[in-house]
Amino acid sequence: MPSLQSLLDQVDRSVDEIVGLEQSLIRIPSVNTGFMPTGNETPVAEFCRDWLGSERVESHILGRDPERGNLIATVPGRQRKTRLMLMSHTDVVPVENVSKWRYEPFSATVTGGRIYGRGASDCKALLTAQLMAVAILRRNDVRLEHGLRLVSGADEEHGGRWGFGWLAEMHPESLESEFAVNEGGGTAVEMAGNVVYLLGIGEKGRLEIHVRFKGESAHASVPWTGKNSSFGLSEALKRIEAYKPELDTSLPLFDHLSEFAIEDKPTPSNIDRIIAEVEPKSRRLATLLRALSRMTLTPTMIKGGIKSNSVPEMIELTCDVRSLPFQHEDYVRRQLDQVLKGVEGVEYDVDYMSVPNQSPYESELAEAVKRAQAAAIGRSDIRWAPMVSNGFTDSRFTRNIGIVTYGFTGVHPSDDPTLTNAHGTNESTGILSLVSSTKAMIALAYDVCGGR
Ligand SMILES: [Zn+2]
Repeated sequence: MPSLQSLLDQVDRSVDEIVGLEQSLIRIPSVNTGFMPTGNETPVAEFCRDWLGSERVESHILGRDPERGNLIATVPGRQRKTRLMLMSHTDVVPVENVSKWRYEPFSATVTGGRIYGRGASDCKALLTAQLMAVAILRRNDVRLEHGLRLVSGADEEHGGRWGFGWLAEMHPESLESEFAVNEGGGTAVEMAGNVVYLLGIGEKGRLEIHVRFKGESAHASVPWTGKNSSFGLSEALKRIEAYKPELDTSLPLFDHLSEFAIEDKPTPSNIDRIIAEVEPKSRRLATLLRALSRMTLTPTMIKGGIKSNSVPEMIELTCDVRSLPFQHEDYVRRQLDQVLKGVEGVEYDVDYMSVPNQSPYESELAEAVKRAQAAAIGRSDIRWAPMVSNGFTDSRFTRNIGIVTYGFTGVHPSDDPTLTNAHGTNESTGILSLVSSTKAMIALAYDVCGGR
């Protein structure tokens, strides 16, 4: 019976292998533009299937489209049911401007303790750590009491309709598990000498608002004969800029501010002062507190007019809205009605891109995550706080079908999370985090699935 420590020690001896695995994954470009045909995730899934096969781990590929396969691997336990699912995704976002990259984006260049490449951080690092974790458990013939699953989905970057969204709807049995961990949380913030990990327990909602301004076209040389819709737009933009969202401090994070050495009890009336005091010490924490204490309403695109000498009859403004987990559509509509009240010729509709979602912070999984991270980095002094993410991931699909899902990746506290630059130029991952992440996944699986 291998001890957990002996498994973690093997990770330290496998660094070259882990780096090599991550490089192989980055070198398969699985770029998702959002427009079919795209993604081409199947080669990544096939690579993982073959790699796992050589480690005696069974897996299969399931896809709505043959080019967009999802990888599903299972390690059976003594009991039939799966207790833990390790989640990630295989697609990556496009490269915007190759000439700005220091190294070719799919070369997976290793330098200065980091691996550079599109997908290096989002999300092939987590996939690497999870694959390696499963392999090390198998190499040591660790016997599990409860089943373990590894699922890497396609299309995370464009809504998951070919990935977890499709699996949850058409093949929920392939995701069956009590608990899951995924991207979208688990980074560390350092404040007043404390290392505080942010466990991703939920996600804000994302809505797209299409606001239309109606006027009446006319020749621009006699503009008074028509009605210029751009003036409605200008009034609306002024109102949106002045919009003061209602402040709220009811998310669980606000009950844990003492972990960050913030002693004031946050309330809607003092939260902006607290944020202002945090700002010089940690911009990341300040941004998080700001995003989690209010809904945001942000104009992002304007479309309108048909000719430079015609009064525009119609202008459309698109806004991005991020709502808190308890702010549903009727709340968002009330806010918009208030903001746009009295603007002439205006109407809007609301499109949900992602519904806000949340798992409870109090769970057996949360306790296991804390133990796993402490074991992975060999520190017993780390602290934890529950975070709701302002972005969204595939976790919304698994939370929806009743799986307690956390954003937890096991990154190393000395690895600056701003260096990863996910979705940006020179995306990279720290080898230090790749190693701690592998250890964290092993420790978590060993604990939750009852390894012996
Ligand atoms: Zn991602």
